[in-house]
Amino acid sequence: MTSLLAVRDLTVQVPARALKIIDGISFSLGAGQTLGLVGESGCGKSMTCYAIAKALPRGIAQTGGTVTLSSGAQADGQGRAPSVAMIFQDPTSSLNPVHTIGYYLESALFRHQGLRGSDARLEAMRLLERVGIDRAKSRLRSYPHQFSGGMNQRVMIAHALAAKPQLLIADEPTTALDVTTQAQILYLLEELKAETGMALLIVSHDLGVIARLADRAAVMYCGKIVETAPVTELLRRPAHPYARALIDCMPSIDPADLEPPIPIPGSVPLLDSLPEGCHFHPRCPRASGECSVRFPAPTNIGLVHEASCYHPVVA
Ligand code: SF4
Repeated sequence: MTSLLAVRDLTVQVPARALKIIDGISFSLGAGQTLGLVGESGCGKSMTCYAIAKALPRGIAQTGGTVTLSSGAQADGQGRAPSVAMIFQDPTSSLNPVHTIGYYLESALFRHQGLRGSDARLEAMRLLERVGIDRAKSRLRSYPHQFSGGMNQRVMIAHALAAKPQLLIADEPTTALDVTTQAQILYLLEELKAETGMALLIVSHDLGVIARLADRAAVMYCGKIVETAPVTELLRRPAHPYARALIDCMPSIDPADLEPPIPIPGSVPLLDSLPEGCHFHPRCPRASGECSVRFPAPTNIGLVHEASCYHPVVA
């Protein structure tokens, strides 16, 4: 199957300081599939999304590799590049406070679908209703500060849908929301994915979110992908000690589970002082001498399951 998104050896740097934020990562995503990028804050997940969306912040540049979006994966028939939309962690600060929700949505509908006037207004109302916001007609006159964080995330999703995306990038879409709203937003994303057939690239530090939505997961550490696997396989048989550690530090809500979460020792190193070899070695309980010399190449752990580790947890 042709990939909708193919990322090959992507490298992103702060050129002025020669700092590598993303270091030669590769992955692909087919139409209708969901890939989860997981890892601690500062591992490069968000920058990967910005690079794919061609929206890297000023002072940060893609210095290597390719990001290919191919409409061949969809029955487009006209050779158009697939449309990409993105939603962010903090919806309220992502919305312009001086514009109404209606202005925000109708502008997007004009830009992406050429709709204006009453056509744009009707479609904006339909999108608001679709993402679960009632009294859509009057809500179009509201400002972001009049909405809760969860409602603003729904507005962001409606805005993304205005682009009829074939790929939706969701960067920590539930992190700033309370638990019940998180569940509602995840359910909405699941529904919309099933309805539209769009592919989803979801970023989270929370393995529970990835487990809920993704078919496959890629674990990132210090700008590199250290393990990729189907989500169920990753949760059952993590191979990389970092993936194992991420699972072990998840709190359980099962009262019968008396094992306390195990914190990962130390913290993610700064980009300007990355340890040589495998960047995880100062925190890794399985590290040996060779781990601090050279970064391990990816090896097959199982069918479509790879990890970059000299001493994987499962072999
Ligand atoms: S390569 Fe070595 S240090 Fe890195 S995760 Fe594997 S065992 Fe640990």
